[in-house]
Amino acid sequence: MLLDIPAQIWDNGNMTYEELLKDIDDQEFAYDTLATSIRAVVELHKAYESMQGTACLECSEDDYACPYPCPTIQAIEKELQ
Ligand SMILES: [Zn+2]
Repeated sequence: MLLDIPAQIWDNGNMTYEELLKDIDDQEFAYDTLATSIRAVVELHKAYESMQGTACLECSEDDYACPYPCPTIQAIEKELQ
């Protein structure tokens, strides 16, 4: 429930979504840093065997198994081709 999330999660001083995209576009990161970042995202979107088949752990919810590869993994795979 949204109201139960502590306020600091919403105001933690991290860069905004737009700032993150700009930093990536500006290539301010070394390539190994980008690779480490992508790997962290892939590890979050871990595949597991659900009752309905292979699903994404991050994108699934209690009553919904998101088929693997999820849109996030598909986007990464597309760019790696
Ligand atoms: Zn996912």
